[in-house]
Amino acid sequence: MKLPSVIILSFAASAVNAQEPIIDAHVHASEIASFAALARPPPIPHCIPMTDYPVPSSGKDWPAIFKSGKPPCRATWSPATDDEVRERSLAIMKRRNIYGVVSGSHVARWHAVAPERVIRSLGFGGPGAMSVDSMRKEFKEGRFAVLGEVTTQYSGLSPDDPSLAPYWALAEELDVPVGIHIGTGPVGAPYLRFDRYRARLHSPLGLEEVLVRNPGLRVYIMHAAWPMIDDLLAVLWTHPQVYVDLGAINWALPRAEFHRYLQRIVEAGFGKRVLFGSDQMIWPETMEMAIEAIESATFLTAEQRRDIFFNNGARFFRLSPERIAAMRGKKPN
Ligand SMILES: [Zn+2]
Repeated sequence: MKLPSVIILSFAASAVNAQEPIIDAHVHASEIASFAALARPPPIPHCIPMTDYPVPSSGKDWPAIFKSGKPPCRATWSPATDDEVRERSLAIMKRRNIYGVVSGSHVARWHAVAPERVIRSLGFGGPGAMSVDSMRKEFKEGRFAVLGEVTTQYSGLSPDDPSLAPYWALAEELDVPVGIHIGTGPVGAPYLRFDRYRARLHSPLGLEEVLVRNPGLRVYIMHAAWPMIDDLLAVLWTHPQVYVDLGAINWALPRAEFHRYLQRIVEAGFGKRVLFGSDQMIWPETMEMAIEAIESATFLTAEQRRDIFFNNGARFFRLSPERIAAMRGKKPN
């Protein structure tokens, strides 16, 4: 059978794209149980975009709406078990050739199943959760390659809080890349269980003194500090070593808003410092949604897309030529 050449060409192009590797700088191997406290027994629905949750009559009413088992929105549902979250996530990672920077309580299990696809990252909630000595031990003993997600925003701590200074100094000393949550938590976070979460901490300006004090620190701002675009551009301009990732904002926000935000970052000249991220938590399909959000961004050139999906991450995480070649499925030259 002879196919029209346009079909052959488009098939060949998609086959090539399927092989191109993706670095997902923001993946969680989370326990469903940790979300059940926030929501309901699994499976747990999640409105996409998150602004589609019904408007509460007061902050007090918000938890009941958020925990509703039948949200009147386009919901994605979590699997019922942690094993299924892992298997479905890893299946997507394999199919789309994704390499994930993965944190969470199940990271060791994920790594045991797919060591080549899982870059282990140490989640950090703040000084109350881990001492500097314990953190040093984790990295010295080689259990983790990245420090993140740093979720101190949920504790109401700005990155320049004095209690965090020894941790930044340690990451700089050990040359460990750091991913810090600055930006979107769940809608209505202070009314759920994050009573110290504040909107003003969406600004990345709280990172500035940390950067100046630790100029060797390799940092990426998770969630790209949405929606504080002016503060973000000021930080990217002033501190050329800083990267951002697109976790969650590429599926939790209305698409037009995500595209506008990404377009501002790229058109301001910072396209080489944007990392792809999904922020997969317990909804594996969000990885596919996150990819689609980049693929559908018509303002990006093919080169800018490849930078976001892979090249920027390979540079930021300092992947070796051998590792990059293996991810591309080729032997190094
Ligand atoms: Zn986050």
